[in-house]
Amino acid sequence: MPTARTGRRCVVAVDGPAGAGKSTVARAVAARLGYIYVDTGAMYRAVALLALRHRIPPDAVSQILARLDEVEIRLEPAAPGEPNRVYLDGEDVTDAIREPEVNAHVSEIARHAAVRERLVALQRAWAREGGIVMDGRDIGTVVLPDADVKVFLVADVDVRAKRRWRELLDKGHAVTLEEVRRQLIARDVQDRTRAESPLRKADDAVVIDTSDMDIPAVVDEILRLCRERTARGEAGTDKA
Ligand code: C5P
Repeated sequence: MPTARTGRRCVVAVDGPAGAGKSTVARAVAARLGYIYVDTGAMYRAVALLALRHRIPPDAVSQILARLDEVEIRLEPAAPGEPNRVYLDGEDVTDAIREPEVNAHVSEIARHAAVRERLVALQRAWAREGGIVMDGRDIGTVVLPDADVKVFLVADVDVRAKRRWRELLDKGHAVTLEEVRRQLIARDVQDRTRAESPLRKADDAVVIDTSDMDIPAVVDEILRLCRERTARGEAGTDKA
């Protein structure tokens, strides 16, 4: 991951429920600023895939941790505006982690504090130099509470379900909208109600509703927030 510093570089945290547009918006913001983009959901998905492949039940946390000790999860920035590529011990699992089976299991895995601790340590290390846009569920609240800009994206549940459904159809999965909607709601409930780092808006996050989303407008709003911070000389990396 690049670390060069040029001027004041923001740390941008993008949180919200599944299908709210986080990754599309976060990727675009990172591309416009020349920053690194980190999709933390991809990391939890990689752990879920690991567990599924080894037939480890989602609640067998010590078995999951033992497997995690043996593998390396790597995210690569890929081209500007593109999704991160995800590697599990060198194997490219970028597509595999988007399979419906992973969707169905990932939230059960992500609720374990010990799993989160390991991934959060990596996420914080990557953000140390600034110049980063990170998306997830707990970025503004737990991972990067000092982020310069925090946004919490929301959208109507039907809109979110339709977005995910279309993504799955495009990939050739024969799923119904109702199925996708049900699973998305189940994942939201699980993510919002878990004891450890639940999905929650940070007190100082700006809420943006993307239901009738004009992506460029959302991106512009986040860029404006970044400029505001840097103009005031408050952006994270150059504080010292
Ligand atoms: O963002 P995405 O939908 O790919 O995330 C998959 C799942 O990973 C979420 O439903 C959530 O359970 C978990 N997750 C998390 N904390 C994050 C990012 C994702 O718990 N920062």
